[in-house]
Amino acid sequence: MFMTDASTRVRAEIDLGAILYNMESMHAHISGHAGMIAVIKANGYGHGAARIAAELESLPYVWGYAAATFEEAKEIRQAGSEKPILILGHCFPYCYKELADYAIRPAVFRRDSLQQLSEAAISEGHRIRIHIAVDTGMTRIGIRPDDEGLSFVKAALETPGVIVEGIFTHFARADEWDREATGTQIRLFKDFCERIREELGYDVPLKHCSNSAGIIEYPEANMDLVRAGITLYGLWPSGEVHKQIVPLRPVMSLKSHIVYIKDVPAGVRVSYGGTYETKSPARIATIPVGYADGYPRSLSGKGYILIHGKKAPILGRVCMDQFMVDVTHIPEAAEDDEVVLMGSCGEQAITAEELGDLSGRFNYELVCDISERVPRIYIRN
Ligand SMILES: *Cc1c(COP(=O)(O)O)cnc(C)c1O
Repeated sequence: MFMTDASTRVRAEIDLGAILYNMESMHAHISGHAGMIAVIKANGYGHGAARIAAELESLPYVWGYAAATFEEAKEIRQAGSEKPILILGHCFPYCYKELADYAIRPAVFRRDSLQQLSEAAISEGHRIRIHIAVDTGMTRIGIRPDDEGLSFVKAALETPGVIVEGIFTHFARADEWDREATGTQIRLFKDFCERIREELGYDVPLKHCSNSAGIIEYPEANMDLVRAGITLYGLWPSGEVHKQIVPLRPVMSLKSHIVYIKDVPAGVRVSYGGTYETKSPARIATIPVGYADGYPRSLSGKGYILIHGKKAPILGRVCMDQFMVDVTHIPEAAEDDEVVLMGSCGEQAITAEELGDLSGRFNYELVCDISERVPRIYIRN
C-alpha cells in the first residue's frame, strides 16, 4: 500500500483511454462529413478540460471544443490547444477584445453584441468569427427563426469585422422517447438555414444542432458539426436513449481508502443527528470523503460504496469531509484498504447514473460537482 500523496484520501481517476473510445464510438455512428465539437465546459464536466483537449487535439474529425464561458475557453487555449473554441453561452463585452486575440468564437444573438464585437475586432485588427444561436424550442438564448431572426442574421452578415462562421440550435428533449418535439426543432432549424441561403444568399458554413442525445438518436440532424458532451465522459443523457447504438465506457471513477475501523455493540448511533442506530454488534469503517468533495449529502442512509467487490452501505449522514459505512459482512476489510465510491470494483460497479438516482440528483450534476479538493489522476485503461 503506497500512500504517498494527496490522492490517497480521495481521487477521481480519469481514464483517457475511455475518452478516446467514446469519441471514436460516436464518430463511427455519425454520418459522412460531420465534424465533432468536444464539449468541455465546466472543466470538462469535472473531468479536466485542458487534459481532455490535449487528448483529442490530434483527432482529425474533432473540429474544436465548446466552453460555457470566456474564462473556460481562454484556459483551454492557454493550455495549448490550437483548434477553434466556441463559447456556448452569452459572452460579455469585457472579453470581446481578447476573443479576437485568442480566436475564440462567441455564440451571438443580441444586436448590441454585433456592434460591440465589430468595434473590438476593428480595434484589434482581427476579424471575429461568430456562431449565431437560434432558439427552436429551448426558450433559452438565441434568436427566433422568424422574420426578425432573419433580419438579425442579415445585420450580422453586414457587420464589419465579424464573420458568420456558424449557426446552431440546441435540443430540449432529444433524450426522450417521444420524438415529436425534436423533430419540430430540426425542421425549424433546417427551414431557417434554408431561408438564410435563399433570401440572404449566404450558406452558413457550419450548421450544428446535435448534443449527445441527438448524436445517438437523430443521425438526420448531424449537419456540419455535432456537439458531444455527456457521452464523451461515458455517461448517458437519460435512461430513454438507445444505449446499444453508441457503446460507451465511463471515464471517471472515485476512489478512497478506509481510515478507521471500529467494532461497536448494538444500540449505537452513527453520525450527525444519530439517524442510524446499530441493531446488532457492527463493524464500522470511516471513509475520509464528504459533501465538500462533491459526494452528495443526500446519499445519507441511502448510498453504498464498494470494498473488495462487496457493497458497504452508508450509515447515517454524510458529513462535510467523512462518512461511515457498514463492513460487518466484509471481514477482510482493513484500515488503508481501497474503496470505490463510483466506478467498478471486482464484479460490481456503481455508475454516476445510479449515484444520481440514489441521491435524487442528475448524473451530469454529480460529476460536475466533484470539487476541486479532489485530485484528478489520469490513467489509461
Ligand atoms: C452543454 C451543451 C451541449 C452538450 O450537451 P450534452 O447533453 O452533454 O451532450 C451541447 N450544446 C449546448 C448548447 C450545450 O449547452
